[in-house]
Amino acid sequence: MNVPLLDLKAQHEPLRKDLLVAMERVLDQNNFILGREVKELETQVAAYSQTRFAVGVSSGTDALLAALMALDIKSGDEVITTPLSFFATVGAIVRLGATPVFVDIDPVTYNIDPTRIEAAVTARTKAIIPVHLYGQCADMTPILEIALKHGLAVVEDAAQAIGSEYRGGRRAGSMGTMGCFSFFPSKNLGGLGDGGMVVTNDEALAERLQVLRVQGGKPKYYHRVIGGNFRLDTLQAAVLNVKLPYLDRWTALRQQHAELYESLFRQSGVESAYGVRLPQAVYKQDGVGHYHIYNQFVMAVPKRDALRDYLKEKGVGTEIYYPVPLHLQECLVSLGHRAGDYPEAERACRDLVALPIYPELNAEQQHYVAQTLCEGLAALR
Ligand SMILES: *Cc1c(COP(=O)(O)O)cnc(C)c1O
Repeated sequence: MNVPLLDLKAQHEPLRKDLLVAMERVLDQNNFILGREVKELETQVAAYSQTRFAVGVSSGTDALLAALMALDIKSGDEVITTPLSFFATVGAIVRLGATPVFVDIDPVTYNIDPTRIEAAVTARTKAIIPVHLYGQCADMTPILEIALKHGLAVVEDAAQAIGSEYRGGRRAGSMGTMGCFSFFPSKNLGGLGDGGMVVTNDEALAERLQVLRVQGGKPKYYHRVIGGNFRLDTLQAAVLNVKLPYLDRWTALRQQHAELYESLFRQSGVESAYGVRLPQAVYKQDGVGHYHIYNQFVMAVPKRDALRDYLKEKGVGTEIYYPVPLHLQECLVSLGHRAGDYPEAERACRDLVALPIYPELNAEQQHYVAQTLCEGLAALR
């Protein structure tokens, strides 16, 4: 059997007609730059994320960059973040000449460990970027407390977590100073190309973001600040407006798939037999609906790379998020980090593997994935 990590065709085929209609409308209107579909998506995403404002941008990467630019993060500033994330999180900090300061992860959730943050705060610290990794919110209450105490901004990297809820049902992106989303095709809400959004409750920041995304020109051709071309295409917004109404349904399916995997792996006994660790949805017991939106279903396994090869041979697609922790990326050697600096993040990079969890996955495929993985563990023992 063949089970890919992600099957976008299965997602888009039933929407083909609606997507073509939406794209044709943009073609007919010729309003390719910041057309009304962008405004419409901003309104919808702000409401969905429980925020007052949303500003459509060109990608999740540019959402982070523009958010930090709106905060005037610059050379000499420090920004605290996690060593376990997609490169864009740290890239945005470094591109502005600021210094990333890493804080190790909590080995249960794989998100930044809030108990270690305060020790990393200095007089130069300006912001914290928690990442809601794999679709589960970082532990925001202590993070927000530390930020308040030290006067720091909090930029939530919610690229993998649109709609994900923290304690009290608060949604990803709504808790910090700003929240950043990505509409990269593999995210839970993905376009047919790149796109992103920044959400905030701060009107002045929303206005700054709107100016920054058009090269900092306001009025047009008069530049008091330096921005960039950070605009979300009308065409992508039109596509995303078609897809957004399905997001809750897709999230529910991802959660059901996670439950099936969990029960299959529990029954198989691989936790005690091989030390496999299943993902922990820590807000589930709080009765939170979107306790985890499972952008990825990630588990810790022994002999990870060999197991991955085994699964690949049997037709099961997997991925590693991420093989190298940010502090050990080659382009960041000047920070002077070494292996051993953030042991939990390094362990995660060694042990974690992501299994197929896309909404259109069926039970037969999931049984095959689980069975094949268990066979692989036994074969590699
Ligand atoms: C995808 C992702 C980004 C970047 O989003 P793009 O739209 O690909 O630029 C940033 N941070 C995290 C955690 C991501 O997963």
